[in-house]
Amino acid sequence: MAGGSAIRGSRVGAGPLGENERGDVAPRLTVSYWCANGHETRPAFAVGGEVEVPSTWDCQRCGLPAGTDREAPPEAPRNEPYKTHLAYVKERRSEEDGAALLDEALAALRARRGS
Ligand SMILES: [Zn+2]
Repeated sequence: MAGGSAIRGSRVGAGPLGENERGDVAPRLTVSYWCANGHETRPAFAVGGEVEVPSTWDCQRCGLPAGTDREAPPEAPRNEPYKTHLAYVKERRSEEDGAALLDEALAALRARRGS
């Protein structure tokens, strides 16, 4: 209780709902998944009890299966049991348009990464 402890005693860590103080908010584990298109999806899983982090996760952007290994994302299935909206859109486009879109997406991705 010597001088200098005043600041520590009045820290502003607690949120407006006081959740941090109650300590009943389950810690979350954020896992990154990458799909074949290079999209990163980061779902958060509650930690505690039985935690099962799936080995694959559906990409939030294109619906392709995504894996935790960035260097080796799961292959896009040839026959999808259900088609995403993007799949329908792709089907209606010519292959050339599809390739252009892919280049565009990759360019945007690289730009965002700043490389
Ligand atoms: Zn994707």
